[in-house]
Amino acid sequence: MLTLLFAAPATWPDYREILPRVLADAGLGARILTLDDAYDPAQVDYILYAPSSPLQDFTPFTRAKAVLSLWAGVERIVGNPTLTQPLCRMVDPELTEGMVEWVTGHTLRHHLGMDRHIVNPGHVWDHRCPPLARDRKVAFLGLGALGLACAQALQQLNFTVSGWSRSEKQVPGLVTRHGAQGLAETLALAEILVLLLPKTAETENILNAESLALLPRGAVILNPGRGPLIDDAALLAALDSGQIAHATLDVFRVEPLPQDHPFWAHPQVTVTPHIAADTRPASAARVLAENIRRGEAGAPFLHLVDRAAGY
Ligand code: NAP
Repeated sequence: MLTLLFAAPATWPDYREILPRVLADAGLGARILTLDDAYDPAQVDYILYAPSSPLQDFTPFTRAKAVLSLWAGVERIVGNPTLTQPLCRMVDPELTEGMVEWVTGHTLRHHLGMDRHIVNPGHVWDHRCPPLARDRKVAFLGLGALGLACAQALQQLNFTVSGWSRSEKQVPGLVTRHGAQGLAETLALAEILVLLLPKTAETENILNAESLALLPRGAVILNPGRGPLIDDAALLAALDSGQIAHATLDVFRVEPLPQDHPFWAHPQVTVTPHIAADTRPASAARVLAENIRRGEAGAPFLHLVDRAAGY
């Protein structure tokens, strides 16, 4: 019988029923403890984790075979010096589905110029027809589980899509780039730019005054990645100068976004409250069970975090 520690108190009610069921269906006999239970850390086989967890010292978990994050982003745990166990992040098919819907919806909003018609107090008969998707260039920074799925969904709608990642990639029908030169080329063509990078030392402030200036004038930015990818002051200056027409932001340096932050009041900023895509317990439980099955079978874990790269 395995011992699992569910160290994410805020989400335990969402998993309390589904997780034991999914583990049983996978043939895994497990006792699930929470941080409220009396337990011996040295007896725990797997830790299920969220960044808000009060558990910060992994040293006593001498037997744990892995820490399985319920979140896709691991920037708040990856640098923890007490964490010597393998760390796996969450790649949940239903989270991906949610992100595809958010990115597609907000891309279409800007592509079609929907705001002109939704908010039209003067009843202006603006007869301009939007261009076709084939004539709209959308670029992704980040072509991982989420960026690639979103890029492919937009390709299906005929958008002209390109993407940039750390490593070189071959994706049928997608123009892919990497490296500093690749970033400059990707930005130069991005009428709509989607940020789906993790927050790491290398990606922080990747959108700054210099890189914002490389975008075509009037570009739109969608950021469902992480707040620190953007230098806030540089973005506000670019919005005010007209270099950037609009920014739709789901993630922020400080969350909830403070009431006095200029993003709330800026007419060319849309704030969504970190709702682009959530981990869905039913599908996430299956991902957790599969990784535990692998751990027990001695097979490589899925979605193992590269500690040196930070994601
Ligand atoms: P992922 O599979 O790890 O993909 C990350 C992508 O970023 C990869 O393509 C990676 O390149 C690229 N990348 C990383 N560092 C880079 C660098 N220095 N230069 C260029 N490219 C770099 O992650 P994911 O599952 O797609 O998730 C991406 C992020 O979305 C998460 O880290 C999280 O912050 C965010 N997120 C937000 C929400 C929300 O609700 N707003 C929900 C879930 C996740 P390689 O392919 O070469 O490795």
